[in-house]
Amino acid sequence: MPALPSLSFEFFPPKTDEQRQQLERTVEKLKPLAPRFVSVTFGAGGSTLSYTPDAVRGLRKQHGLDAAPHLSCMGGTREEIGSLLQAYAEDGCTRLVALRGDLPSGMARPGDFRYATELVEFIRAETGQRFHVEVAAYPEVHPQADDAFADLKHFCTKVRAGADSAITQYFYNPDAYFAFVRAVRREGIEVPVIPGIMPISNYSQLKRFSEMCGAEIPRWIARRLQAYGDDAASLREFAADVVAALCRRLIDEGAPELHFYTLNLARPTLAVLERLRAA
Ligand code: FAD
Repeated sequence: MPALPSLSFEFFPPKTDEQRQQLERTVEKLKPLAPRFVSVTFGAGGSTLSYTPDAVRGLRKQHGLDAAPHLSCMGGTREEIGSLLQAYAEDGCTRLVALRGDLPSGMARPGDFRYATELVEFIRAETGQRFHVEVAAYPEVHPQADDAFADLKHFCTKVRAGADSAITQYFYNPDAYFAFVRAVRREGIEVPVIPGIMPISNYSQLKRFSEMCGAEIPRWIARRLQAYGDDAASLREFAADVVAALCRRLIDEGAPELHFYTLNLARPTLAVLERLRAA
């Protein structure tokens, strides 16, 4: 059977006991796949200020995983972000995902940083090469970008500020990823660009996320998912086939590894990986 590609898994930090138990169950199921690293998201404006470090510590200490905190700078001050960096360094973290983030609606405090580039510069100035820094990439263009070329230019500037690799927003059209990678390589950017993979378990949730983050669900996939209605089992089968085919093509055509947005659920990710392994 073909070996699986190198993997990483993204989790969100649990806030309640129920969510903590859910994450524990998920990690127990995904850990045997030996992810290269796992990451934990962070609410912009400090809304998950202590939840992210707590979850990262648990994944590192209790599960022995290379856990990377996401660090979003929107809404944060230099002092706040500086002390988080120091705490992560003291905890033994060696990897960070550096982001601008989005301010929660109603939150007015813009913070000291405007763009992720400034955060990457700050991380390098404060901590040198202590951390492997990942940044976000948008093969289908960030929704607030002036245009695709400006977005590409800003991405390249962000990498030149000191990023070691990038993880993409999820997408279902592999050509968008290949075109993006070709475009950044033409600009002389050589860092790995890891495709972000969103397994599908719920159409209305996926539609909502995709509208917010500017990810396109191809019409044929959207229409099929919609048509399953309440037939969740058939939807899951179809979705796992579609996402596994996407992953297979990405790997066959040179993607360095796969980063799964797990939403703290094991089953949708495992269904994709089982198909990938069997292919
Ligand atoms: P940036 O790279 O700063 O880009 C944001 C926008 O500004 C883009 O449109 C870019 O073109 C534009 N821009 C950049 N520089 C300039 C400039 N100098 N002048 C004008 N325009 C400029 N959000 C969270 O809140 N928490 C998370 O944990 C989280 N994790 C994520 C993980 C991944 C892998 C990805 C892909 C996204 C994640 N997000 C997260 C979402 C992300 O924070 C949002 O997409 C946010 O809107 C942009 O963040 P960024 O780091 O890509 O920003």
